Amino acid sequence: MMDSSGRTAVPSIKRLDEAVVNRIAAGEVIQRPASALKELLENSLDAGATSISVVVKEGGLKLIQISDNGHGISYEDLPILCERHTTSKINSYEDLQTITTLGFRGEALASMTFVAHLTVITMTEGQIHGYRVSYKDGAMEGEPRPCAAIKGTQIMVENLFYNVIARKKAFKNPSEEYSRILDVISRYAIQKIGVSFSCKKHGDSRTDIHTDSTSSRTDAIRAVYGPGVARELVSVTASDDDPSHSIFKMDGYISSANYSAKKTTMVLFINDRLVECSSLKKAIEVVYAAILPKASKPFLYISIAMPPEHVDINIHPTKREVSFLNQESLIDSIQKAIEAKLMQSNTTRTFYTQTLLSRSLGVPDEAEESMPVQTQGGRNLKAPVNKLVRTDPSNPAGRMLAFMQKSLAGHVGSGNGLVDTKPVEMPMEDTRKIMDLTKNEEFAAEVQEDQTGAHLQNNKVHKIAQMDASSLAGREALEHNISQANEDSRNELTTTRRLVRQRRNLKERAELTSIQELLATIDQETHSGLEDIVKHCTFIGMADERLCFVQHKTYLYLLDIVKLSKELLYQQVLRRFGHFNVIQLSNAASLYELLVIALDEEEQSGRWHESDGPKDQIAQLNVELLMCKAQMLQEYFNLSIDESANLCTLPLILDQYTPDMDRLPQFVLNLGNNGIKSDFNVMNY
Ligand code: ADP
Ligand code: MG
Repeated sequence: MMDSSGRTAVPSIKRLDEAVVNRIAAGEVIQRPASALKELLENSLDAGATSISVVVKEGGLKLIQISDNGHGISYEDLPILCERHTTSKINSYEDLQTITTLGFRGEALASMTFVAHLTVITMTEGQIHGYRVSYKDGAMEGEPRPCAAIKGTQIMVENLFYNVIARKKAFKNPSEEYSRILDVISRYAIQKIGVSFSCKKHGDSRTDIHTDSTSSRTDAIRAVYGPGVARELVSVTASDDDPSHSIFKMDGYISSANYSAKKTTMVLFINDRLVECSSLKKAIEVVYAAILPKASKPFLYISIAMPPEHVDINIHPTKREVSFLNQESLIDSIQKAIEAKLMQSNTTRTFYTQTLLSRSLGVPDEAEESMPVQTQGGRNLKAPVNKLVRTDPSNPAGRMLAFMQKSLAGHVGSGNGLVDTKPVEMPMEDTRKIMDLTKNEEFAAEVQEDQTGAHLQNNKVHKIAQMDASSLAGREALEHNISQANEDSRNELTTTRRLVRQRRNLKERAELTSIQELLATIDQETHSGLEDIVKHCTFIGMADERLCFVQHKTYLYLLDIVKLSKELLYQQVLRRFGHFNVIQLSNAASLYELLVIALDEEEQSGRWHESDGPKDQIAQLNVELLMCKAQMLQEYFNLSIDESANLCTLPLILDQYTPDMDRLPQFVLNLGNNGIKSDFNVMNY
């Protein structure tokens, strides 16, 4: 400011009008509708309420009405209720050290009366009626009037910021303000599980939040944040009792790796106070970033208790932040506890496979654009990343495919010939390692439907079934079996069935020494590491015609389905030896005709020459050979041939799996040609 001589004038200091002072102060405490609501809610909780209901109009700018069943306000206190710095909660500054109530400043109600119209209806225990009174600028507007009421307090805050135009204009979007109000109530609702909360918009019959006072913490989280969050929660605890570090106890619920949201929700309470702590939030987000795909965020509910003298609750006008001793050490401990918990829970990660599965099996896409394919940088996602199978074999840019080829090319012979533990560079952002089992000639596994023992052999490939590598049926059967194997481990009913089969298998083994020996070899050669993988893996999806991805613990593996099928079928044949269920052919098939078809095929593929002898003679010879063996084939394999040399039944090697009948002629030819080898290692199906 300049005066007429050009010098800067010294402004004089004036005492501000009290109404101005109060309004300025009010602006700090009551920053927006949600901060008014928070103060009111905390007052109700301080009054020992077990039921709190809120009604909101226009995002709280028109009306916030809160009703509780707390102890109420006595008639004598009503005149000073809304004066600044009047409180029933502390007497001296020292009381702050041991405070158990949420409020302590005696400012909230006063502030509201400076920026809104406030009306109170309250009744204390044992009264026959309540009182109703309105306030303006800290003072009562007229005497309290008796009115009908129930024990507790109802406060209505109307026309918030009616006299602070600039502030009012800042809240253009009432629905955003309403969601902030819901957010505050939601947080308290999961902390104060002994209190029932409800909130709705004025005029609505439907509540937007409703919790019961009897719910458990997870029930409350489910009621407020939905079953999607509640389903994926794991509980976590941490504590420290070393004064040189920190003294605290933490317990909470955090979302597992199966859950992901766009934004982190961290509901944090320190000594029962709803607060924010950005450094703790960041520390936890770092842990999640390592296991969740980019851009997906967790849900966290964390409640920390520490000695009250370690916390300064008086550092923020809305009490939104607190400061506490040994912050770094405390954050560190919590971070570690969460990391440990997540690593544990990550082993049971759930994959939702359906959409892409149909694709990998060659089913035509409904609409290409609707496929939820992750793009570089995680953008353009149509569904949460964790809901996707990150393999898309038909898409040349499919990340899994790209990685897979890399792994094949980069493969070097592995030490024990089983697993190549060389981590493969992955275009995914998490820390899972990938092992390649595909090049391992020895890899073989059994995944029995009944899981009597998923044995894996490490040094033998048995030629039991030359299944077409692209046979969809075969793959489906395998997929079915792998997922079945997972389910089995959880299914008690199946356990009983398993025991029954185990007993049956023992009997089978006793029957033929050669079978017994072969089974013993399988048992001996079982590789426990691989067995565990096959037993407890989660099927993810097909990488191509032959290879499938499975997850075991935190690792991804590629399994060669063809080899796995061969071994599976081989072991099944041994286990079911003499006890096969049958596949009944709808029409008995003439062995002779089957053999002629097979020989024609041989001729076409250049494997038959005239020098081998006439086809019809070879066919006839084979028929005779098979007729000689018919009884044995029947007994061992339930493969029956009737008197007129027709094939009537085939053994069922794998439940719910029907072999490719186009291969039947070849099978019969091989059966005749090879005879029945004593070790049954060859049975081309
Ligand atoms: P503070 O909560 O810091 O004491 P407030 O302005 O929020 O200050 O409230 C002033 C006083 O009014 C409280 O100390 C309490 O005694 C009384 N009060 C406010 N709301 C309620 C309520 N819902 N039930 C009972 N008493 C209440
Ligand atoms: Mg208060």
